[in-house]
Amino acid sequence: MTSQPERMTHRILIATSNPGKLRDFTGAAAAHGITIAGIPRFSSLPPVVEDGDTFEQNARKKAESYSRAVPGELVLADDSGLEIDALSGAPGVHSARYAAEQPHAAECNTDDEANNARVLRELTGVPAEQRTARFVCVLAAGRDGQTVRTFRGTAEGLILNAPRGTHGFGYDPMFFFPQIGKTFAELSAAEKANYSHRGAAFRAFLQWYRQTQI
Ligand code: IMP
Repeated sequence: MTSQPERMTHRILIATSNPGKLRDFTGAAAAHGITIAGIPRFSSLPPVVEDGDTFEQNARKKAESYSRAVPGELVLADDSGLEIDALSGAPGVHSARYAAEQPHAAECNTDDEANNARVLRELTGVPAEQRTARFVCVLAAGRDGQTVRTFRGTAEGLILNAPRGTHGFGYDPMFFFPQIGKTFAELSAAEKANYSHRGAAFRAFLQWYRQTQI
């Protein structure tokens, strides 16, 4: 039987204003006796421009910038998105603003419904077996303006023709996970954490965190 070290009750701060991501992290942490909290007054901090070419660049940028606001604290920042094979990996790092005319140049995120609609439009006529896709999450742990370590998680699935389910956020209702025969929007936060890219990256983080806390 495993027991949780006392230090594992430490609080970890998450740099996000996205309630869906916060819910995912809380779901992933619950089983490990870890308290997850958002960075205090996160919305008043200057936003980080996510102009990196990779998930890792953006995650590092966020962890370095936001950790300066909470000296001495370990801050986790993630950058994530959906890679669709039939669209050559799009929306990728532009997942949050895919419905914009020029997603790479857009300054603001576009809403989930519009992003999903664009994906469906672009996949019109693509047969089920060619609708393979993966969610990717890169998690950067930062402290005092430096990236301490990064962690990567992926989840492989298929893009449906129409949304299914009411939980989750973003592309969850269109992302079918064959292993359990459900979309990510048909899962509770705890269930999603078992299978998701964010859950996998978070478990990799926890493994490292446990070792560094001993
Ligand atoms: P960012 O990591 O804040 O740049 O946002 C990533 C975008 O990718 C989100 O706005 C969603 O559109 C999408 N995304 C990332 N992770 C998930 C997920 O777990 N479910 C559904 N959509 C996601």
